[in-house]
Amino acid sequence: MASFRGTLPATHSSARTRVTRLAVTCAVALGVTLTAPPATADDGGRGWHGPAPALPKVAVMTGSGGAVASVDRDASQIGLDVLARGGNAADAAVATAAALGVTEPYSAGIGGGGFLVYYDAKTGRVTTIDGREAAPATFTESTFRNPDGTPMNFATAVSSGLSIGVPGTPALWDKAARELGSWRLAQLLKPAEDLARHGFVVDQTFADQTAANAARFAMFPATAALFLPGGAPPAVGSTFANPDLAKAYRELRTAGVGSLYAGPLGRAIVAEAQNPSTAPGVSVYAGQLTTADLRAYQALSRAPIHSTYRGLDVYGMPVPSSGGIAVAEILNLQEAYEARTSVALSTVAEVDYLHRFAEASATAFADRNRYVGDVPGVPVGELVSQGFADERACLFDPAHAAARPIPFGSPDGGYAACAPAAAAVGEGHQLESTTHLTVADRWGNVAAYTLTIEQTGGSGITVPGWGFLLNNELTDFNFAPLTAGVPDPNLPGPGKRPRSSMSPTIVLQHGRPLLAVGSPGGATIITSVAQTILGHLDRGLPLVDAIAAPRLSSRNGTGQAEPAIATGTLGTALRGMGHVIAAAPEIGAVTAIHLFGDGRMTVAAEPSRRGGGSAMVLHPAG
Ligand code: GLU
Repeated sequence: MASFRGTLPATHSSARTRVTRLAVTCAVALGVTLTAPPATADDGGRGWHGPAPALPKVAVMTGSGGAVASVDRDASQIGLDVLARGGNAADAAVATAAALGVTEPYSAGIGGGGFLVYYDAKTGRVTTIDGREAAPATFTESTFRNPDGTPMNFATAVSSGLSIGVPGTPALWDKAARELGSWRLAQLLKPAEDLARHGFVVDQTFADQTAANAARFAMFPATAALFLPGGAPPAVGSTFANPDLAKAYRELRTAGVGSLYAGPLGRAIVAEAQNPSTAPGVSVYAGQLTTADLRAYQALSRAPIHSTYRGLDVYGMPVPSSGGIAVAEILNLQEAYEARTSVALSTVAEVDYLHRFAEASATAFADRNRYVGDVPGVPVGELVSQGFADERACLFDPAHAAARPIPFGSPDGGYAACAPAAAAVGEGHQLESTTHLTVADRWGNVAAYTLTIEQTGGSGITVPGWGFLLNNELTDFNFAPLTAGVPDPNLPGPGKRPRSSMSPTIVLQHGRPLLAVGSPGGATIITSVAQTILGHLDRGLPLVDAIAAPRLSSRNGTGQAEPAIATGTLGTALRGMGHVIAAAPEIGAVTAIHLFGDGRMTVAAEPSRRGGGSAMVLHPAG
């Protein structure tokens, strides 16, 4: 099997270099003050540098000294400032995430959860932190069922107290700062506190997301007062300040995250989840969250998913996310298809590449839906093994799509040319929200961090007086078994964490980081991350072009593809092979960093999806 030899495409054009140079001289006022920590206490003797140059919003930069990519310019700038002032990748990741809690409040924040994958340059090890929300102790398999046993209406459950899990994000930040970072959490939250207080400029994406949720937000007076001032979404170009959120960050900075897990902030969350404040005439399901649930919560260190791909080491997020497992299986299947056909993925026509990608994705989803959830005994080692992928590749026909749903496989350690067919399992609900950030520092540490409050706008419930939305992560559980008679690992349970698709991923070459990547997008996260990896490493696309490439997401039902595929000649050709594909306007919002191994790095974000992301490097090349 071919191994990756490091022959990667050029990473940026000379036009982009000129943009970068311009950027450095272009002073964009951020309106946020960073308080540098005392020089000797926290910088590990590294010495302070000045603030980072204020950079404009661009999708790709190459340079050295550290890099940050997120969906938002203000957030990336705050992360870059932390790097410039001596913080490491963990510090910058937390500071950037806190800023996203301000500027992307419908996707991220202290009312939600997430997963961090981290490469520590000193030890050469990849670690992860699981900050996934947890269910109340009272949850059972039938919590999301009506008295007659039928599943509750999904949308009704989302915008209610019942969907709210114990927030994991503050605990993840605290753990990351203490165990991986070099600054105190109090310092890392300060720029975001200032940003919340002074406000940010409303862009089209924020206005559109608000408008799309206006009816839901109007159900909850605290949410309407904050996000629908005067009854309408904030105008594009206006300044949106959130003094209540500034107060919440200040509370976490001064009292610590204990305020949320065992103090006043936590009591406010529990009161609102148990008895949501609703507009006259509106009633929603009450939540079951208690202060004991908050006290019991911990962000957890977990061993990463590790698999190999063309001699590279791929690290991803383990259970309760299915992301690391599914991305690994998709990549392993590519190697298996190559072995069966003796035709390299890098050489096939675009339609054949997309066919292979779709077949692998559908197969991986068949397996994750059957086997992966927050339950004991998930056969992780087998699911990410090449032997299992080789057996699963027996379904592959280079000319025809396998009928959906593809049956799940048998990750039992004994692999033949072809396993007997099992039953098929369908897909649960998956909508799209969330945000992903990627950071690298000058010492070689790398962070890939995906965080969410689940749907855009989460449960729709704002904690009164504290300025943040509570998640609806618990509707990521399946409400009832997806297939009668087949065990479902993702049913609700006491203290259980709902299965996620979040896939922050770090790829190492010879033990050193080569690529860090991640995306939002519900279940499409897995396919967006895998497609970006394949586009960059196999198909020879520069990183930003691999991100910009039209996306296809085949998850073992009707496939989804962006218009450039779905309504073009590629879509026609794929349908000719038997693929069933519906058009989706936009899939995912990737950020990524490619590291060259000599201190240089290319950092990239979306050129246009979600209004375009923001990639920044501390010392731009050229
Ligand atoms: N809740 C989803 C998950 O954990 C992410 C939300 C989204 O991206 O829509 O997979």
